[in-house]
Amino acid sequence: MTAQTLDDLLESGVAGRHVLVRSDLNVPLEDGAVTDDGRIRASLPVITELAAAGARVVVMAHLGRPKGQPDPQYSLKPVAERMAQLAGREVRLAADVAGDSARAEAAALGDGGILLLENVRFDPRETSKDDAERAGLAAELAALAGGVDGSAGGAYVDDAFGAVHRKHASVYDIAAELPCYQGRLVTRELDVLSRLTGAPDRPYVVVLGGSKVSDKLAVIDHLMERADTLLIGGGMLFTFLKAQGHEVGASLLEEDQIPVVTEYLKRAEDGGCRIVLPTDIVMASAFAADAESEVLPVQALTSGAHGAEALGLDIGPETRVAFGDEIRRAHTVFWNGPMGVFEFEAFAHGTRTVARALTESSGLTVVGGGDSAAAVRTLGFSEGQFGHISTGGGASLEYLEGRHLPGLEALERPDAGTGQAGA
Ligand code: ADP
Ligand code: MG
Repeated sequence: MTAQTLDDLLESGVAGRHVLVRSDLNVPLEDGAVTDDGRIRASLPVITELAAAGARVVVMAHLGRPKGQPDPQYSLKPVAERMAQLAGREVRLAADVAGDSARAEAAALGDGGILLLENVRFDPRETSKDDAERAGLAAELAALAGGVDGSAGGAYVDDAFGAVHRKHASVYDIAAELPCYQGRLVTRELDVLSRLTGAPDRPYVVVLGGSKVSDKLAVIDHLMERADTLLIGGGMLFTFLKAQGHEVGASLLEEDQIPVVTEYLKRAEDGGCRIVLPTDIVMASAFAADAESEVLPVQALTSGAHGAEALGLDIGPETRVAFGDEIRRAHTVFWNGPMGVFEFEAFAHGTRTVARALTESSGLTVVGGGDSAAAVRTLGFSEGQFGHISTGGGASLEYLEGRHLPGLEALERPDAGTGQAGA
């Protein structure tokens, strides 16, 4: 079974119909303002395309991790405002997820109108482990679109690639309630990611960094089978260095992963994939923008002379050159996770070098991960300089790990959208 696409939906005609769209609008906020609107920009095309075809568009999205209840800090209000600004048209925001306000606003939508529901995670049923609870919310959301038998004949479009790895009501259960379709963003992500797991042009280089060490370590297992070279930076490199007997001070470290990492290193030695670790590190006196720092060759870490307080916040200059060369020579590059704490200019050099090397590579270059994508933009690169910037961090990693993604499976279920399943 393959999923139906947005084109299938448009062909069946959407004028006057309510279409529920699940988007990934999980953007970073600071003092209530959107600091990086990449995901909003990426999500708008499908929303406006449906509206232009006369659909009554009801957008569902989550923001952050509110604890299953309304929390003004996680309101989608700034997102709705930015959407309206970027789209140059009105975007209504419901005051709740599927309550009185959502029902009234959805009913009042005219053809081509756009409504954003409040953060779906304000409803505890969205992320519930209880199938019946999630199905309950999914049924209420579907009812906003007139339900499968409603006179308006609602439909569901999943365009939230960043959420397809979640078994949540607005991603998974909703597909049992309405005819469902894959949004263009999801289709494009799958086109690109499948090239990374299929038969990539070689050399195939994978660059991993960031701070979610265990999440990233898991993907190595799978990528080692496919990539020619793995470049390791960011927080996870310290677990590798520790496994090799170095002292890493107060750097990010997952002690319990040392056996796993040791096994990866052994597998790399036995042939197949090369694992390239930094040869020098920028060690800082504290986790701060203005912390004192020095570049230390990795060998110098063994003595522990840098002290227990020092922490590695970036890859060093020699490593930057080496990583840059590897990336420029590659014909396929997948990069996930900043090389250092790029939010502090003093520790952004590694990340900037890797980003620049990707723009200089003539092969397919893919950037995955929310922070990596944000880094690319805040460091002054433009999206067009990369082959593809994935909007899904965890989702793209899970895809590359070869895991089954509930949101994608839901669109392919034989009973999807018949209104018969879910329960
Ligand atoms: P992504 O969202 O791209 O998948 P992560 O969420 O895993 O990436 O990690 C991003 C974060 O990793 C950034 O905020 C960055 O500051 C942090 N980071 C990178 N290198 C280090 C390091 N050496 N020590 C601590 N944090 C780091
Ligand atoms: Mg992140």
